[in-house]
Amino acid sequence: MSRDPHCIFCKIVHGDIPSVSVLETDQAIAIMDVNPVVKGHILIIPRDHHSQVRDLPEELAAHLGSLVPRLTRAVVAAVGAEGSNLIINSGQVAGQTVDHCHWHIIPRFSDDPVDWPWPHEEYSGDEKAQMAFRITRELNGPAD
Ligand code: AMP
Ligand code: ZN
Repeated sequence: MSRDPHCIFCKIVHGDIPSVSVLETDQAIAIMDVNPVVKGHILIIPRDHHSQVRDLPEELAAHLGSLVPRLTRAVVAAVGAEGSNLIINSGQVAGQTVDHCHWHIIPRFSDDPVDWPWPHEEYSGDEKAQMAFRITRELNGPAD
């Protein structure tokens, strides 16, 4: 099991600091976020320490994903929400403050204070096709 001795979520996973858990599996825990964006906000945290979503083994990512529908139904029903957001912040620039990959489930209400949606950019010319080409090339691995 990979663990970072300085990581607050590793400490939570190993019971070294307290948390309020709502679900535990062999590979992950789901806990109440201590400073919820909206009350009922939970975090799905893999037991193993991986910094970002891009570092997750695919099987672990699949396990985390498998928990999302049930946890979302529970959160939404428990607080009487009208919807929810599933969010993963990756990297400081994207708002990640705890360097142990975790997935947020945030219940949403039409009158909650969350500022959403994000602003959108527009592609010009063949930018979108070029971007898709570059992403596809990355997915297919480096050229020989
Ligand atoms: P992020 O900004 O995506 O890294 O999210 C980190 C989240 O962890 C924030 O929503 C914090 O409120 C939450 N958080 C930080 N420390 C704790 C803790 N000890 N127990 C529960 N949630 C925490
Ligand atoms: Zn950790």
